[in-house]
Amino acid sequence: MEIRVKSVYIEVIKEDITKAKTDCIVNAANTSLLGGGGVDGAIHRAGGKEILIECMKIRDRQGGCPVGEAVITTAGKLDAKFVIHTVGPVWNNGKSNEEEKLKDCYMNTLDLANQYNIESIAFPNISTGIYKFPKKRAAEIAISSLREFIEGNNSSFKRIQFVCFDDENYQIYVKTIKGLV
Ligand code: ADP
Repeated sequence: MEIRVKSVYIEVIKEDITKAKTDCIVNAANTSLLGGGGVDGAIHRAGGKEILIECMKIRDRQGGCPVGEAVITTAGKLDAKFVIHTVGPVWNNGKSNEEEKLKDCYMNTLDLANQYNIESIAFPNISTGIYKFPKKRAAEIAISSLREFIEGNNSSFKRIQFVCFDDENYQIYVKTIKGLV
């Protein structure tokens, strides 16, 4: 499934994000930047220790990564050139500005990627695993943030992928994107 916004192709696919053939892979990290479970664990395992070494340097410099912000490292052994680590909000029944914080993740990641002239980038479904953000609302925020960024900026992007791992997210993304065309 794919749509075009300005000259950027936006794709929804179902796969393991560590296999993505994009310049940059986005990691749903935690504030420690030291790795964890879910997609974070998968990226660190597949990319090797170089990623963790750079994350530790960032920690020494700025003490981790706050929720909604993003930092960039090498992609180590992955095919991608870079990993952008962003920290999604933990779902707290909508009482802690989780929606705004999730939007910040997408906007700050796209902004950082654009500064590095990245042409293709793969996003996981940030916060919808261990952090329990409701999947449909998370997909709407992901897609609307992306549109807002592309429409509001001259960007380096040619191709942006939403990489879904579970079937439920894949169906939600396809339906939400179809609603736009
Ligand atoms: P969070 O803590 O932000 O919720 P998780 O890693 O638990 O992060 O989950 C985020 C999303 O990433 C979930 O939808 C989960 O199904 C998905 N996911 C887990 N492993 C992978 C992977 N290897 N590739 C792509 N997506 C993955």
